[in-house]
Amino acid sequence: MKKRLIVATKNKKKLQEIKELLSSLDLQVVSLLDFPKIPRIIENAKTFKGNAVKKAVVTARYFGSLALGEDSGLCIDALGGAPGVRSSRFCGKNKSDPQNNARVLKLMQGLPKGKRKAHYVCAVALADKKGLVGACEGKCFGIIAKGLKGVFGFGYDPLFIVPKYNKTFAQLGIRVKHKISHRYRALSKTKALLSTYLRKNP
Ligand code: IMP
Repeated sequence: MKKRLIVATKNKKKLQEIKELLSSLDLQVVSLLDFPKIPRIIENAKTFKGNAVKKAVVTARYFGSLALGEDSGLCIDALGGAPGVRSSRFCGKNKSDPQNNARVLKLMQGLPKGKRKAHYVCAVALADKKGLVGACEGKCFGIIAKGLKGVFGFGYDPLFIVPKYNKTFAQLGIRVKHKISHRYRALSKTKALLSTYLRKNP
């Protein structure tokens, strides 16, 4: 029987990306969407890694199973690193991606291209019932567009220009995103961690 990996998220778009990026592993990947009644994990750490570790450890302990915590977000230089760990709630709790994007555009209105640098961060942590197994991080650097461009992806993707292509993630689509994204980079490292773990804990 395949070993179960519980991804500690209820974000459907993020989960879809994580599942695709882990598809080569011989694991049964499920998420908190399959367990709607479990209590919400409060993301109150100051770092992406802190939140990822908390999500992984709490979930692994709750289910007595292998769990993966992921925390990610956008850091904009001109905004002192904001929205950062508050990326999903930049406009407050229960606000939408379009509202968050509109706030970024408003705050950056009039800034020239040279002052629009940003990067995505993705932290991933792995834990089992005994505690933390390890944590990894991936980054992806880009420029904030002056308006929304493209229809693919989620969150801040219509604003995030990848300099190599001069297009946003929302224009480039998932095939390119999966080759260069912060999530791809963090999960590539996590896969190595998982392989070692599975060898020692078959
Ligand atoms: P979390 O669920 O607290 O980790 O929030 C992550 C938030 O960061 C998302 O809701 C998005 O606003 C943003 N974010 C993280 N990764 C991406 C991405 O790959 N594309 C677009 N937005 C992202």
